[in-house]
Amino acid sequence: MLRCDVLRRGGRAAAGALKALDHEYDAVVVGAGGAGLRAAMGLAEAGFKTACITKLFPTRSHTVAAQGGINAALGNMTPDDWRWHMYDTVKGSDWLGDQDAIHYMCKEAPRAVLELEQYGLPFSRTEDGKIYQRAFGGQSLEFGKGGQAYRCAAAADRTGHAMLHTLYGRSLAFNTSYFIEYFAMDLLMADDGSCVGVTAMCMEDGSIHRFKAKNTVLATGGYGRAYFSCTSAHTCTGDGSAMALRAGLPLQDPEFVQFHPTGIYGAGCLITEGSRGEGGMLRNSEGERFMERYAPSAKDLASRDVVSRAMTMEIREGRGVGPNKDHIHLHLDHLPAELLAERLPGISELAAIFSGVDVTKEPIPVLPTVHYNMGGIPTNHFGEVVKPRKNANGDIDQDAIVPGLFAAGEAACASVHGANRLGANSLLDIVVFGRACALRIADIAKPGDKVQDAPKAETDRALGALDDMRYARGQTSTAELRLKLQRVMQDNAAVYRTQETLAHGVVSVDAVVKEFGDVGVTDRSLIWNTDLIETMELRNLLGNAACTMHAAEARKESRGAHAREDFKDRDDVNWMKHTLATFDESKGKTHLDYRPVHAFTLDEKECKVVPPFKRVY
Ligand SMILES: Cc1cc2nc3c(=O)[nH]c(=O)nc-3n(C[C@H](O)[C@H](O)[C@H](O)COP(=O)(O)OP(=O)(O)OC[C@H]3O[C@@H](n4cnc5c(N)ncnc54)[C@H](O)[C@@H]3O)c2cc1C
Repeated sequence: MLRCDVLRRGGRAAAGALKALDHEYDAVVVGAGGAGLRAAMGLAEAGFKTACITKLFPTRSHTVAAQGGINAALGNMTPDDWRWHMYDTVKGSDWLGDQDAIHYMCKEAPRAVLELEQYGLPFSRTEDGKIYQRAFGGQSLEFGKGGQAYRCAAAADRTGHAMLHTLYGRSLAFNTSYFIEYFAMDLLMADDGSCVGVTAMCMEDGSIHRFKAKNTVLATGGYGRAYFSCTSAHTCTGDGSAMALRAGLPLQDPEFVQFHPTGIYGAGCLITEGSRGEGGMLRNSEGERFMERYAPSAKDLASRDVVSRAMTMEIREGRGVGPNKDHIHLHLDHLPAELLAERLPGISELAAIFSGVDVTKEPIPVLPTVHYNMGGIPTNHFGEVVKPRKNANGDIDQDAIVPGLFAAGEAACASVHGANRLGANSLLDIVVFGRACALRIADIAKPGDKVQDAPKAETDRALGALDDMRYARGQTSTAELRLKLQRVMQDNAAVYRTQETLAHGVVSVDAVVKEFGDVGVTDRSLIWNTDLIETMELRNLLGNAACTMHAAEARKESRGAHAREDFKDRDDVNWMKHTLATFDESKGKTHLDYRPVHAFTLDEKECKVVPPFKRVY
């Protein structure tokens, strides 16, 4: 337990007082964002008795905030091919992505988008009624030789909102049992290493629930809130990945944190890449369109890591805008007002509210802001969680499956994004792999299969920790410690990294982890105890953050979003491998291991491996 065993307790000793109510399902899905809803829907459709547990009302999940769109080679604007999409995704990943999983996702993409259309997603339309597709970063035609691709299917700049509402509405047609505003606490692991369900707390009345299930899908989203300035919702606290870490499972590639080039300066809210896709451009204090120097072909639509680094460089060299020369201007004011109203109404509103800017007349002040976790719980392309394990011959099987456990969406790492995700590939990832989990479970299990019992110690572990946190009476408030963590991450694992900052970051993050032993919770009740919930979320953030910092310190190269000033080049000889980080809560220690990247496709006849080359845009 993350120092929960040493938390100073106040009030009455309540250990053992909490009792769990039991439920049994064929499958349990944790999370009701795009990934969770698509998985739950597929499972219920295949006849599995399915529960979907979510700490938020489904349509409040972070997917709702997605703006720009979803990639698929539909070919509605120009001829297109999913192999070109695959090429762009492998290049975008800086060759850390697993090419078999990327093959699967890009090939499935057109089907996934047409399925959403059939469910009723109100996509924007072309003149002749086809799904409208806009330009997005890092997307090309003809394997990088045919210029900019128009591949991102969009519902104005509110695609995630449209998607989440469509999926939730559709999912209600199937017989899924929703446990809404239930907070999942821990996985239930059987002695043979398989997952047999989760423990959860109903936030409304504090009742404790044990969900036993033959198969469990984690779809709990990312952990952007480990940073001070991020585009993610306050609820993006990496709960699922922390649950996996506590079960002794690794987190893959956590050092790869995406900074989106255009967060609103000061507020952190996102201005979609679609704004540059529609013709917006970045300018420095000299009015120069500086991206022409950094990415002569793609310019403002280079990959996100490239644009974020260019902006940071401009600011460092004194060409930032504003009184402190500490941000950059995003211009949309040269675009027709009607186009802004039709294609970008949401961000026009955001810019007005959060920076007081009328986008038809003035530029938006922007700054690179934490946006997405490329890392997560490692899975294969079926969504099955994998963990290296010694096989019968004594060899290490790098892709050994954890029976009964699946992961999808931002919580997972398939790994389709590798070292850098391309814009509009996450909305795709969540629906493709949410569905893949359901399909795989339907392949390997039957409704009504017997569920193993979890050892009693597993429930006791979760309830003991809950009790320790509820009665914690240390000197540091949860909010103070969370802020400290966020500052450590923001200052030491930023767009550019050095050995000095990362080494300092490792010491600092470990110190914050230790300080959790002195956290204090003031509300002892069980009814809507937000103090307790935020403490559980902070505990989850800590494991994710420690893995991120340690993995970043260890990786002595620059690849995708991990840009080291002291190791400027990609080093394929030593570092073309996935990080596997584990975290021992009781000791506050992070351990690192590695596994090979899948440099093969699902079918060489259908598409060939994209061999590594220097990434330029
Ligand atoms: C502002 C913004 C804009 C974006 N725009 C785009 C875009 O245009 N295109 C694109 O491809 N990507 C975009 N992304 C990224 C993309 O939206 C997300 O990566 C994706 O939606 C994540 O979906 P998910 O289903 O994995 O998780 P989420 O949508 O984050 O859902 C997580 C779910 O898990 C549940 N949960 C979490 N913890 C617990 C717990 N302990 N117990 C119970 N339930 C729990 C929550 O209740 C929620 O239902 C954007 C992201 C942001 C932040």
